[in-house]
Amino acid sequence: MFKKDFKNDVVEIRGQKIALGESKLIKITVDRLPTGTLIEIPVYVFNGEKAGPTILLQGGLHGDEVNSIELIRRMLIDKSYKIYRGCVIVVPLLNVFGFLNFSRDMHGKDVNRSFPGSKRGSLASRVAYYHMKELVKNVDFAIDFHTGGAQRNNFAQIRYTLQDDRAKKLAHIFNAPFMMSSKLIPKSFRNECYKNNIPVLVFEGGESLRLDEISIEKGINGTLNILRYFNMIHKSVVIPSMDKSIEITTRKWIRAKIAGMFSTVIKNGDEVTKGQILGHIMDTYGETNYAVKAPFDGFIFAINNFPIINMGDAIFHIGKSEI
Ligand SMILES: [Zn+2]
Repeated sequence: MFKKDFKNDVVEIRGQKIALGESKLIKITVDRLPTGTLIEIPVYVFNGEKAGPTILLQGGLHGDEVNSIELIRRMLIDKSYKIYRGCVIVVPLLNVFGFLNFSRDMHGKDVNRSFPGSKRGSLASRVAYYHMKELVKNVDFAIDFHTGGAQRNNFAQIRYTLQDDRAKKLAHIFNAPFMMSSKLIPKSFRNECYKNNIPVLVFEGGESLRLDEISIEKGINGTLNILRYFNMIHKSVVIPSMDKSIEITTRKWIRAKIAGMFSTVIKNGDEVTKGQILGHIMDTYGETNYAVKAPFDGFIFAINNFPIINMGDAIFHIGKSEI
């Protein structure tokens, strides 16, 4: 399924060459602020001595999705990328602007809806363009780390493209608590990579602007599982054992039937049974108390933590495995 003989090449990014056995920090300039300050995206390249795959690990495509940035940062500190086989290209924070503004977007535009981008487009479009041109052209596959939305907490999960067998295989190897296929979204990073025959895993864990230890830990362990599978890291690296990933085949957002104050009685990641009470929606005067129940046996893998709910708002994501 994967090429047996990955070619081990010199990696070239923005005209800088990283030879076998070398590591280098390259800063890709993306913009100049009105004040004249240059904005750069740091890219770490760790090229092993032996042949193996080239993997792109990227965080902060959405600037406020902090778990993605934090887990990559911790792996830098732990020297997890000191590989001896293959190559790891690491982008700890792609959307510098969003990060500085506590925002998912870059100057009001979603980078993940701007691919393949254009040299003369908006800033988000230019970032997408140079990302494809300078980094993605070098890689065999990528892991795109995300965090979840504002107040919408995703239990650590991997999403992959259904029609991409290699991505599904990688999802099994990563072994997050949950894995599921998801449709390609036009102009997204995953969609553009799919067009270029590059499998992508999308990791989601936690919610934006809030660090979550479980998500960080699962993201790190999953990445190590991938590096271990391709014999890129030494056997001495200890990876905590994890339960086998639950493959979600059917899923549904449970939406609020009434407006009100919302609270949950279960935890994210819990297994629930049909009819089980998951939470309550109450009016602010103590007159109504609506119990939200599970529509079928399954697992809760996302919860809306926002306490004030309008009718129709998505509040729980429930899924089941029919394999
Ligand atoms: Zn995201």
